[in-house]
Amino acid sequence: MTRPYNFSAGPAAIPAEVLEQAAAEMLDWHGSGMGVMEMSHRGKEFISIYEQAEADLRELLSVPSQFKILFMQGGGLAENAIVPLNLSRAGVVDFVVTGSWSQKSQKEARKYAAEVNVIASGEANGFTTLPDPAAWTPSRGASYLHICSNETINGVEFQELPDLRGLGCDAPLVIDFSSHVASRPVDWSRVGLAFGGAQKNLGPAGLTLVIVREDLLGHALPACPSAFDYKTVADNHSMYNTPPTWGIYVAGLTFQWLKRQREGGHSGIAAMEQRNIAKARLLYDAIDQSQFYVNKVAANCRSRMNVPFFLRDESRNDAFLAGAKERGLLQLKGHKSVGGMRASLYNAMPLAGVQALVDYMREFEQKNA
Ligand SMILES: *Cc1c(COP(=O)(O)O)cnc(C)c1O
Repeated sequence: MTRPYNFSAGPAAIPAEVLEQAAAEMLDWHGSGMGVMEMSHRGKEFISIYEQAEADLRELLSVPSQFKILFMQGGGLAENAIVPLNLSRAGVVDFVVTGSWSQKSQKEARKYAAEVNVIASGEANGFTTLPDPAAWTPSRGASYLHICSNETINGVEFQELPDLRGLGCDAPLVIDFSSHVASRPVDWSRVGLAFGGAQKNLGPAGLTLVIVREDLLGHALPACPSAFDYKTVADNHSMYNTPPTWGIYVAGLTFQWLKRQREGGHSGIAAMEQRNIAKARLLYDAIDQSQFYVNKVAANCRSRMNVPFFLRDESRNDAFLAGAKERGLLQLKGHKSVGGMRASLYNAMPLAGVQALVDYMREFEQKNA
């Protein structure tokens, strides 16, 4: 069976090998007589799935030992509240607003922090550039500084995480890496906490990944729900309440798939990064070389994962999407707040899928230009 290429921004494509394995094990996981959805989260079968997933993720992302890996629920949006509930200490928090997601995050934080300062913003440029960290002025005594390291809707991505200590700022950096986790390495020396929903690059919706430095645990506000107190979750190995067992299992299969990947002498995340660079280059070059399509993001801020683009003649949008679907190129419609098209090129998208998209775009241009 050849499946169409799915460019959804999320929930997004999952590698076929992962889906096939999950299907094969659906009714009977490893001779246990149970499917994973039917198992106690405290039984030895699920504990082994959980421990393997955590160990594989720690290895893949080179997560240092002083960081806890938490498997939570509620998605990126819940983390917009859970982070200030745990880290704000009801004080001042800083945000850099680079698009829709960081905008949402700073609004939500206002419910919990005494003061929210947007210390830099790309809004004046329509979120087509990233404010230069060298010009940021973090607030004195801020509890943390939040960025969205890849803006899924606007298509801007930090190519390097900001070095807050280099700016004379001791506050921990919080990153929302929902839509580019596992697409490239993370410089943990610059991070205090990273969070992301699984449904972009790791597995099914319903699982939220939080990776947090140990010294940031134990400062939750009294109003923080126990199930969302990072220290409680960490002390209970993500099993204070029933964790999203299916999500952890499928993410675990994805981690094993990632470990098997090879590209240009690299493996794992480094291999994915090589492939993701090649995929993004292929699509951006095709857009830039045409008179028919346009991407408005500054070249050094362009996301490797989410590529919004426009037809210069927007009256052809529906025809473009209909033709794409006929070719097996799915879910290319842009986010309603931005319009146009968006191609999400997560890890599960092979180079051949991007080539098929580029071929279609050229053909559509020739017919319609
Ligand atoms: C998708 C996304 C979210 C929202 O995730 P939910 O799981 O829907 O809450 C937050 N931040 C970023 C960067 C995202 O891409």
